[in-house]
This record gives sequence, C-alpha cells and structure tokens, in this order.
Amino acid sequence: MNYQSTRNAAQIADSVHAVLEGLAPDGGLYIINDLPALGFDWRSTLNMTTMEMASAILKTLLPDFEGMDELVERAYRGRFSTDELTPLVRVGDRYVLELFHGPTSAFKDVALSMLPQLIMQARKQTGMTDEIVILTATSGDTGKAALAGFCDVPGTRIIVFYPENGVSRVQKTQMVTQSGKNVTVCGIRGNFDDAQTGVKNAFSACADGTLLAGKGARLSSANSINIGRLAPQVVYYFKAYAELVRQGRIEAGEPVDYVVPTGNFGDILAGYFAKLLGLPVGRLVCASNRNDVLTEFLQTGVYDRRREFYRTCSPSMDILVSSNLERLLYLLCGDCAEVAGYMEKLRTDGVYRVSDRMLARLHEEFWPGCCDDAATLDTIGRVWRETGYLMDTHTAVAWRVAEAYETACRGAEEYETACRGEHRSPATLRCPSAGEQCSPLQPPVVVLSTASPYKFPAAVLSALGENPPEDEFAAMERLHELTGAPVPPNLAGLRQQPVRHSDVIEKEEILNYVLEKVDS
Ligand SMILES: *Cc1c(COP(=O)(O)O)cnc(C)c1O
Repeated sequence: MNYQSTRNAAQIADSVHAVLEGLAPDGGLYIINDLPALGFDWRSTLNMTTMEMASAILKTLLPDFEGMDELVERAYRGRFSTDELTPLVRVGDRYVLELFHGPTSAFKDVALSMLPQLIMQARKQTGMTDEIVILTATSGDTGKAALAGFCDVPGTRIIVFYPENGVSRVQKTQMVTQSGKNVTVCGIRGNFDDAQTGVKNAFSACADGTLLAGKGARLSSANSINIGRLAPQVVYYFKAYAELVRQGRIEAGEPVDYVVPTGNFGDILAGYFAKLLGLPVGRLVCASNRNDVLTEFLQTGVYDRRREFYRTCSPSMDILVSSNLERLLYLLCGDCAEVAGYMEKLRTDGVYRVSDRMLARLHEEFWPGCCDDAATLDTIGRVWRETGYLMDTHTAVAWRVAEAYETACRGAEEYETACRGEHRSPATLRCPSAGEQCSPLQPPVVVLSTASPYKFPAAVLSALGENPPEDEFAAMERLHELTGAPVPPNLAGLRQQPVRHSDVIEKEEILNYVLEKVDS
C-alpha cells in the first residue's frame, strides 16, 4: 500500500488499484510519499537498454504489478520507430531529447503505450469483470495517443473529449478518423480547461457508484492524473542521463539540467520523480507559452487562474489549471491538509498563495520561463538556419526558455521574457546559480522535444518565412519539400482516412453523454 491521496494520508491504495482508479476517491491524486526511501539504485540503469530501464523503474514505482518485463515489451517493442524509444540528439551546445517517435508522433505515446498494458494487467490481477471506461480530456495530443493505445484492447472502452476549436487540424483529423470498436471521440464547445473540468465532474458524479450501478462499467482516466501515465515518463530522464554519460559529456553523478515544455505539469513532475529516485537532475526548467500561470506561480508562489486564456501556436500547453502541480505541492510539504487547503481555495476563489517555506523549496528545484508566439516562431526559424535542426512549436518554447535560463545563469543584465512584452531582470527571475560564478563547464542542458514538427506544419512553415497554405495537409507537404525532413508515416496517410466521429456537445453535457455511451 505505498500510494496515498495528496489530500488525505489515510486514503491509501496499492499501485494496481491506484492505476485502476485514476483519481483517489477524495478527489486527490495518488502519490508515493517517500520516493527516496525506495532506495532505487540509479547507477545500475546507466548500462541498460531503454526497455530494461523502463522495467527497472516501473517495477520500483509500481511494485504490485506482475510480469512487468512482459508488459514493457508489449507496450514498446516494434511500436516506436526506434528501440531506443527516445533518442538524444545534439543540437548546437544543447541536447534535444526526442520524445515523439511513437505511433502518433507525440511524446504522450511514451506513457499511453504503457498505460493500457497496466490497466489490462490490473484488471486481471484484481479479477475485475467490469469494463474499464477511460475518460480523457485532451488539448490535442493525449486524445490520439490514448485512442491508439486503447483501440480494441479487450475489457476497455475509451471516450475522448477535445475542445472543438482548440486543437490543430492535424490533431483533430488524427482523432476523428480513429477506428476501433471501443472508441468514441467528441468535441466540446469550450477550451481545454472546460473539457478537463467536465471530465473531472463526471468522475465526481460517478464516484459513489450509484450512477453506474448495474451497468458493468467503471470509470478510469488516461490523463496524467493517473499514476500509470506518469511513471513511464520517468524513464526518459534516465535515458538522456545515461546517454550523456556514455558519450563522455559528464561523469556519472554530475548534474544535468532539463528544460520541459509544460502544460499539465506531468512531464516535468516525472523529472522530479527521477530526481527523488536519485538521478542527478540539476534544475528543472519549466517552460510555458503566453499562458504563463506557472511562470508567475514559480516566481511568486501565487497561483492565479483568473486570467485570460490565450490560444497559442503551442496548443498542447494552453492550460490554466495544471492538475499535476498538486502532486508537487504534496511532495514539497508532505502535508495533506495544506494541499487540500490550496486546492479548495483554487476551486472557490480561483487563486491561492503557497507558504514561504514552499516557495523557497520551489525556487530550489525549478526555474520558470515563458515566451509568446512571436518568440516561438523566431526560435524555430533561427535554430533551423543556424543548425539545420527542425523543431515543433512546443519544443521551440522550451528552447527559447533554455536560452533565457542560460543567459540568466551567466548573469546578463537583463533579458526579455517576451511573455507580455515586458522586460524582467534576472533578479526577479532567480538565477540558477545565484551568487556563483558560471563557467563554460555548466551542466549540459537537455531540451525535451514533445512533438514532431509535422504535427504543427502551418506554424512551422510560417516560422521558416513561408506563407502556409490554408490546408494543413498541403502545409505538411510543403514543409517536407522545403526541409527534406521525413514525414512520419502515421501523419502522411492521415488525409485519406474516413471521418468516423462527428459529435460536438456543450461542456455541461459531458456526464450525460458518458452515461449514454456506457448504456449503449
Ligand atoms: C501534453 C504536451 C505537453 C505538455 O506536457 P504536460 O505533461 O501536460 O506538462 C507539451 N507538448 C506537447 C506536444 C504535448 O502534447
């Protein structure tokens, strides 16, 4: 029973049940409260293959699952374009960790290839006969990756809700063309937060079991609130580290900084898990787009969702409420009542301020930065011209913030965050090694790359100085002509696929929609 709710230490579960349930019954998130106590031997991972690393780490984080080696094999073998899964590429003075070589060209494939295997196994181990109904709110990439992962997996059904006008044409086409007997895709009139809130409300409404009584169905989640989503993401932090050791860039034990394009805070939190498991992670740099709620929070300790929601060219990061932050708050204070208090304030007032102690801890571990669309596109163009490396918009946000991080580290007078066109001095942004002399022997900086540039071809084309054609698929072809970078096969064949899902509903209708589908 090593999992507990972030809101109540008495609400416990073993890892199998934590994965099956997704959200804890009290609305909190499942967490291991003392990861360092697991005594994970991180050095032993350095000479492992990615697949072996995945097994070792998942056995540690999810110890109640039987046959983990087999589950990892089934999740990944032959499903990614490389058995390395997540290759590390050197670009200029930095490293890019490419997380998009899975079946849908999104980093979420890393976790969503594994989660269905975990759910199948959990169902088996608990002798469950109910169908598991996966409810997912998506800002674009999760939806398709989850659909691909769960498609025709026996004993499961998946329902994906996406903001109707909040995802790219390619993302939408990927979802609405999904085949499979157990899949449903539905648009929401609203933004991603509306979709996510609607899904959370559906979970709450069904929590006591009366609404689903006698239907032979149980709800679960494929969002990163599910610990089975987070755990597989810890692996690539180890993989990047091992690669840097292998290449002789660092000695085992030296720190590495990771820059993470952040939305729901799942990806970057996995990096913090890696650190708690012993991996020498230096700073975790949290990169946001113009929706800079996390930048402000990590600077000031005030989380204020009462702000305008912007649609940006990095839509998978257009988020005002980052669910996984709750897990971080718990890990930093270890006090359920404190966390529950913040979450209650967020719900009722839309804002909370963390304690000074918590803020100091946040400053030790994280460095925040953000950039707007103009800076994002400028970065894609500049990196392409200077290095010949083509990146997508989300990766470009992280790259830009990596530059800001290094500039601040070197103690430049001032730099532009470009978020709101304001200039902020490093003093207000926390220098990564305040007071220390920075030398060329800075820790290596690994920028996590979360999507193929072909998932956002229009934005990437305009970043390269071209007027993108109206049609996103034409943009894909043009981008290929211009750069010669290969189009991932799953995207190239998309246009010919028939549309299979056309439902669009109001956000208030999510619960009823789910109940109807479960009945059908
Ligand atoms: C989901 C996603 C992110 C954000 O990851 P979180 O774990 O939600 O912080 C960033 N980039 C892309 C392309 C994504 O799909």
